[in-house]
Amino acid sequence: MEHLKNLDEIVGTVCREMQAHLGHGRVADYIPALAKIDPRHFGIAIAIQPEREAEEVAIFAAGDAEVPFSVQSISKVFTLTMALEKLGGALWKRVGKEPSGSPFNSIVQLENERGIPRNPLINAGALVVTDALLAGGDPAQLIAGILDFIRGLAHDPAVTIDPEVATSEGDTGFRNASLANFLRAFGNIENNIQDVLEVYFHQCALRMNCRQLARAGLYLAHGGVDPGSAARVTSVQRTRRINALMMTCGHYDASGDFAFRVGLSGKSGVGGGILAIAPRRASIAVWSPGLNAWGNSHVGVLALEKLSSLAGWSVF
Ligand code: GLN
Repeated sequence: MEHLKNLDEIVGTVCREMQAHLGHGRVADYIPALAKIDPRHFGIAIAIQPEREAEEVAIFAAGDAEVPFSVQSISKVFTLTMALEKLGGALWKRVGKEPSGSPFNSIVQLENERGIPRNPLINAGALVVTDALLAGGDPAQLIAGILDFIRGLAHDPAVTIDPEVATSEGDTGFRNASLANFLRAFGNIENNIQDVLEVYFHQCALRMNCRQLARAGLYLAHGGVDPGSAARVTSVQRTRRINALMMTCGHYDASGDFAFRVGLSGKSGVGGGILAIAPRRASIAVWSPGLNAWGNSHVGVLALEKLSSLAGWSVF
């Protein structure tokens, strides 16, 4: 149990050390509902897989770990998991596996690459994933299905979708609408564009706190099995591949910097959250709304850098 005591100390240390950095970075004001969030929040939670089967998942948390926030692009990891389960490898005909080296909402590569987004974690790729999940179905039903999937992974029915954030993004989401139209022109969006955008904006508006998010990501640290229920969420091979994509693409054009500084796979969102995975050890969620120039949480990355060094966690 020595290492558990240690993790309690580590989250406390990280939280204390981050206080001096709070307030740096800018909240994502291009989504008006996110512009009013106080950038001085900081929360951290670590969910660790039990050592023995009968043991419960333990969660170590500090700071604002209980305050819900908008997970935004972190949702792309969960919809990717759902789409791989639904379509298998056929998904890779429609979306690539390469880092883009471009901002999350970039449109330029799409023309040269004839409507095949570089990877599923940039907006264009995530829109294709959402389209693949929709497959002629009802958008409201798919939104409910995504919410259900994440509530199950988080073991918490309190996870919700914030309708104000979804509407706010819908009102101002001209760039995502452009991406969807451009993809459609290449035949890589098959459903009605409004329907795809509606689902996408709702998945981004998922509202979770650090505890719930860390718990929901634990299958990615545990070979695709949710240790709480022993249910297989996805295969070992897909789990490795999702982690590989998070490592190479999860922070957009700052993915190399994140790998260099943190050494774990991770996915950021413009709400200021980051989900990071230490394979066979832990799923970690941090949240601080001030963003750096690449749209990733400024303090979130610093916190994960500190945590990986204190805990000695790195995939390398
Ligand atoms: N909903 C946001 C958008 O599409 C998600 C972007 C992000 O979190 N990086 O612009």
